[in-house]
Amino acid sequence: MVSPITQPPVLRNYIGGSWCRADASDTLEVRNPATDEVLALVPLSNARDIEAAVASAATAFPGWRATPPQERVRYLFKLRVLLDEQREELARLITTDMGKTLDDARGEVQRGLENVETACGIPSLMMGYGLEDGAARGIDEEVIYQPLGVCAAITPFNFPFMIAFWFWPYAIACGNTFIVKPSEQDPLVQQRVFELIDQVGFPPGVINLVNGGKEAVNALLDHPQIKAISFVGSTQTAAYVYARAAAQGKRVQASGGAKNAIVVMPDADLDSHLGTIMNSCFGAAGQRCLANSLIMPVGEAHARTRLRLSEAAARLHLGNGLEPGVDMGPVVSAQARERIVAAISQGIAEGAQLALDGRHVSVPAYPHGYFVGPTILDEVRPSMRVYQEEIFGPVVSIAPVASLDEAITLINAGDYGNAASIFTDSGAAAREFRYRVEVGNVGINIGVAAPMAYFPFSGTKRSFFGTLHPQGRDAVRFFTESKVVISRWGSDGSSRVSGIGR
Ligand code: NAD
Repeated sequence: MVSPITQPPVLRNYIGGSWCRADASDTLEVRNPATDEVLALVPLSNARDIEAAVASAATAFPGWRATPPQERVRYLFKLRVLLDEQREELARLITTDMGKTLDDARGEVQRGLENVETACGIPSLMMGYGLEDGAARGIDEEVIYQPLGVCAAITPFNFPFMIAFWFWPYAIACGNTFIVKPSEQDPLVQQRVFELIDQVGFPPGVINLVNGGKEAVNALLDHPQIKAISFVGSTQTAAYVYARAAAQGKRVQASGGAKNAIVVMPDADLDSHLGTIMNSCFGAAGQRCLANSLIMPVGEAHARTRLRLSEAAARLHLGNGLEPGVDMGPVVSAQARERIVAAISQGIAEGAQLALDGRHVSVPAYPHGYFVGPTILDEVRPSMRVYQEEIFGPVVSIAPVASLDEAITLINAGDYGNAASIFTDSGAAAREFRYRVEVGNVGINIGVAAPMAYFPFSGTKRSFFGTLHPQGRDAVRFFTESKVVISRWGSDGSSRVSGIGR
């Protein structure tokens, strides 16, 4: 008997509190990177889909804004409970769609959830301040923070669950209404998140989901009713999004790519730090914006670092991230694998020494998976493209330096400013590094310097375009406008009503 051919499901948008099919007829295949299996078709929503989402968010705004903050966060409390109950299912969806290991995906769910928890503090976080007689006798002055209106976030593939939570819980807690546009490469987990959002029962239009790619992004950037855009992705797209949206008077925060370095000082205890460094380089197959892809061993730390790292990386077990014992899953797509392999080959052609080659790995149980093995290039020089450009794969370049001063000078000369770490036993070296290094997130004996939800997810230079960063208080300020109120009551300049009670 021939089994019926089942069509992959077409993902839906969530607009105005209901699930709906996109107006757009174009779709893309969403594939499991470990198996190459087609999981779903994602619609490439068009300007009409964006128009529908904006209209619903704009209609919801006045009522939502008038809902007291304490009441608004009650919806988030409910969502927090549902996310917590579903955390394993959410993690499995992330792994199936993106490829990272289940442990990594569980960590991602936790980080997303912590943003929901932090946004629940909005009544305190959003509070203004004032001073009686602050302007003059009888004239009071205060500042209040008000929501902007309809806001939107455009997110990347590498944290398909967490990154949307850097923005929307804060935005809606502040009284805005919101549209999320996830990456078209791995949109599955957001379908599940929005099922939970639907279960919470937010007023229709407060939070909306639109799937799609470039066309949907452009429609968001150009829509006159959208007041603020939050973006995370590659530097090229971040620069484009920032310029296009800012030119239309929108508030924009756009996080871009990275080339993060680890400095290993000669006094660093490699035995105790090796696991941390390995996780930073090869966790999520190097597809984290905080992944370290450049290692700068100082002086005699070079030979030791190369040896220990190569030995440990060669032992990493590749496979389907859903399976126990797997250290590294596939990269997100066949195109990403091609790009990464080409970058390694280019590094070798430019003169880098190949200490470990991951270009030709095979994972027999998953012959169609997009696997790249851990790769280490040594003697990498600042003039090489592998040194300068983000590869976004499990590829580490070792660029030996003579001193901490040389390492800091090189890091500061780079285009990116997302993160940098130092491994050392010296407080003085750590302090100098922290003081001088021009990046947004600094790790001291920490490999992935990921800020908790109540700190800003910083970034500088070509890793971030804008002023206020994702998460915490920065997010609250980003999603609100300050208004100063100066008031005088009483014709004599005094607000005090004399005679009352006499
Ligand atoms: P990407 O730039 O390809 O895509 C990001 C988003 O932009 C997606 O939603 C996509 O649909 C949209 N997009 C892509 N090309 C577009 C175009 N030409 N016009 C309009 N919209 C477009 O990024 P990605 O590959 O999904 O994500 C990986 C990148 O994200 C890496 O560079 C990584 O460093 C970066 N990242 C940065 C941070 C950070 O905090 N700085 C965090 C996570 C990821």
